[in-house]
Formats: sequence, C-alpha cells, structure tokens
Amino acid sequence: MRNFAWTAAVATIALFAVNADAAQQVDFSKVEVKTTDLGNKTYMLEGQGGNVTITVGTDGVIMVDSQFAPMHDKLKAAIAKVTNLPVKYLINTHYHGDHTGGNEAFGKEGVIIVGHQNLKNRLANPPPGNNGQVPPASPAEALPKQVYTDKTTVSVGGRTAQVVHIEAHTDTDSVVYFPDANVLAVGDTGGPNRYPNIALGGSIDGTIAGTQTYLNMANAQTKIVPGHAPVSTKADFQAYHDMLVKIRDRVAKLKSDGKTEEQAVAAKPIADIEAQIKQTDMATDAVVRRVYATLK
Ligand SMILES: [Zn+2]
Repeated sequence: MRNFAWTAAVATIALFAVNADAAQQVDFSKVEVKTTDLGNKTYMLEGQGGNVTITVGTDGVIMVDSQFAPMHDKLKAAIAKVTNLPVKYLINTHYHGDHTGGNEAFGKEGVIIVGHQNLKNRLANPPPGNNGQVPPASPAEALPKQVYTDKTTVSVGGRTAQVVHIEAHTDTDSVVYFPDANVLAVGDTGGPNRYPNIALGGSIDGTIAGTQTYLNMANAQTKIVPGHAPVSTKADFQAYHDMLVKIRDRVAKLKSDGKTEEQAVAAKPIADIEAQIKQTDMATDAVVRRVYATLK
C-alpha cells in the first residue's frame, strides 16, 4: 500500500472511465474473441475486458487475465481452438474486474490462480468503487491460491512465465514474461499514445519505474501485450515511458513551485501532449490531477 491521501483523490477517480463499469452496458452474447498468434504457441485473445495472453505447454496452458465473468465460456472456446489441453494456471496482472471477472469460474474448474499478495487482499477486501459503494468480496475460488511479493515463476510442461511485481497502475500489478516466445504482458500499466492510467494504489513515479523495469526485460523483437491496446514493441513503450517522464516533470515543477492542484490543471501543462493521445476515455485535466495527487 502506498501512503496517498485517497480521500482527497476519490473525486478525481470518478473522472476516469473504469472498464469494470462498462460491463453493465455490454451485450456479452455479441462479443467475439479474436485470437492473434504471437509465435511459439503463445497467443493474445481479445474479447471484452483486458487482453488475455495464453501460452501452451506439453501438459497445460498458462493464461494471463480472465476478462469479465460472462467471457469465461468464450475464452475457453477460443483456447480450445488452439489446444485441447486444460488451463493449469491463471495469472492476474491486477485486481480490476475486467481482468479478474473470470477468476471464479476458472478457479472452480481447478485452475490455479496466481497473483500478488496485494491483489488477493484487494479481491478479498474490495475498496469502494467509483460510486463510493464497496463491492462484494470475491468468493474464495476467485482468489489466488499462489501469491508472491517480489517475483515468481509459473511453469507448465516446457514453458515458463516470469512474473514480476511493479506498482504502476495499481499496487497489485504483475507483468508476465514468456522468454521462449519473447512475449511480455503488461496489464494496464500503459500503451502507445495512451495516458498513464493511475488508479487506486498506483502513482506516476511507480508507473515510470515499473515501465522501466519491463523495458529492461524486453528487446527490439519483444511483443508487448497491453491490457487495452494493440500488440506493441519496446520502441512503442520507450516512447510511452519518455512521455510519462515529461508529464511527471512538468506537473512536479508546478507542484514544487507551490501551485495548488487547481492551479496546476489551469496551467495546462500537457496541452501539447494531448495531440498525440489516441484515447477518448481519459480527460487531460483528470490526468494532471492524478499525477499531481500521486506525486510525493
Ligand atoms: Zn485496470
């Protein structure tokens, strides 16, 4: 847990479009899963919610994230098209419902859920949502059976996932690297031409540090799977990282000059960056507020 003044920040969180809320408007019966072959029996699955990554070993599948609960059967059907082996492990990149909604159904089938200790805590004791209401705690089957604190590995026959904790988007974040496919799943920690998505437990400095952590794991051929953007390259994420530093430095300057959050927003410090952002669900002013609020 980080020591932020969340009571003051709660109002700004509401300005962010949280994908979990979007679930209520989705007709899941119409959602189709698109499978992209990333090489070496590793695939990205896009449906509704955060992108899913799977890798197939000789005796089972490692899966990263589970989208919303109603996507369970469709994800299983998509996996069955590339292998008849069962999912053995499900690793969560963070606790948000558009990445963990399928946990319960997969957990009931005996899939071993893996996540950071903070993720287990958040699912078991959920923080208030955007409406201020505390959602119900996740059932036991939806919680990780294997938790870790710093890093861990998860293996099926012939395949290994390296799982590393960062605190970028939330304090529950995991990035997952499949070395033999050179595929890196980074959850909601960023994406090309996107604003940093700093949610409860995340921070701008954590996002910069976390992005650097996984840039160090990647090379020019690495395929990076973001939660809500197309498959990307290290160069894409280097540019994202450099943009984050620019945003942080500008807002930090205003804060250290004694400007209030309102004054920092009014100064429009990232107006030039807005032009390169290809995303409609996050307002520039809200980004400045979140960066300001999470700067130490
Ligand atoms: Zn998220």
